[in-house]
Amino acid sequence: MRKCPKCGERLSPLYFKTACKACSADILYYHFDERLEQDAQKAAAQEEKVQRLLNRLPLRRNKR
Ligand SMILES: [Zn+2]
Repeated sequence: MRKCPKCGERLSPLYFKTACKACSADILYYHFDERLEQDAQKAAAQEEKVQRLLNRLPLRRNKR
């Protein structure tokens, strides 16, 4: 069962319109951009952290 992300209205799987019938929020794209941006920021922060950690370590590659 799909739910409206804004008002929680239950929507039939056969309800193919992209707007909630109760609050007319855009179901498909509600917060979609926001989420993408958050993910991008998180990924960037993570990469920076890893990079800083790597910079602190002495460069020692696995030599066998
Ligand atoms: Zn709704």
